[in-house]
Amino acid sequence: MQTHPIARACRGDASPGLFWETSPVDPRMRSTGQGGHEDEPLRRTGRPARRDRREGARVTDRDSITHGGTTINYEIRRSKRRKKTIEVRVSRDGVCVYVPWAVSGSEIREFVRDRGSWILSHLARLSEIEPIRFADGETLAYLGREIPMVFETADVSGPEVDLEDGVFKVTEPVGAGDEERVEMIGQAFLKWYHYRAGEHLVETVDRWWPVAGHGPKSLVLIRNQRKRWGSCGVDGTLRFNWRVMMLEPDLIDYVVVHELAHLQVRNHSPDFWNLVQSFLPDVPQRRKRLRQKAIGMQL
Ligand SMILES: [Zn+2]
Repeated sequence: MQTHPIARACRGDASPGLFWETSPVDPRMRSTGQGGHEDEPLRRTGRPARRDRREGARVTDRDSITHGGTTINYEIRRSKRRKKTIEVRVSRDGVCVYVPWAVSGSEIREFVRDRGSWILSHLARLSEIEPIRFADGETLAYLGREIPMVFETADVSGPEVDLEDGVFKVTEPVGAGDEERVEMIGQAFLKWYHYRAGEHLVETVDRWWPVAGHGPKSLVLIRNQRKRWGSCGVDGTLRFNWRVMMLEPDLIDYVVVHELAHLQVRNHSPDFWNLVQSFLPDVPQRRKRLRQKAIGMQL
């Protein structure tokens, strides 16, 4: 299957690539759940072999600069395939700079130094994300809104999640240990989002199909991909990350339209972006918002 990560990764001073790196069943999910960047796999480390082939050989190196008295350590990944852009990504793993093969260490240092404040502010922001504990008053995003959670215990075999009157009501069994409880409730939310994603994305694809569809009607699948918002298979199958359900509906529309456009153009060439923009004239703004959203996502 050929996959298409959404949009192009952060270029230079664009938003950071903050990648999903654990499943939501991980008890540490809030602390580890960084949003997915728009055009890169939502992957924390490494890349699939396919992507490595596309990107060309890589060499990884480390360096550091000092900005306002703070040392910024960063990893450098050189790619023969990358020609023109330098990207910096900030995640819980640290700072990573993606550069063309021949860029010198001093050029990279200058690039990082120019963005020192930006990098430090994003590192600070990441460090403020508290691990989720599933306590009353905590919230999770759904369709772009922060929904508070309330919890009650009952004689149930496992946690049940309902959205009622703008509140997530979680009914949970008595007696689970803290870690087990967070894991179980995380699983229940995963199921809940997954189901809602199935409904919402099929509906969204149906709604956009007359405008942006191409060829035989696509099958829509929901995945816990952790690597990307969506993808478009060579057979036209559209796969979406259930986490899109945390986004505002118009950003979900963008994710869907992006993948539908890949039915006609299977790369991220200017032709592709022109096509997307013909469907959604405000696509640059949506992409920008999507990148920003990704930073604060919790699951
Ligand atoms: Zn794409």
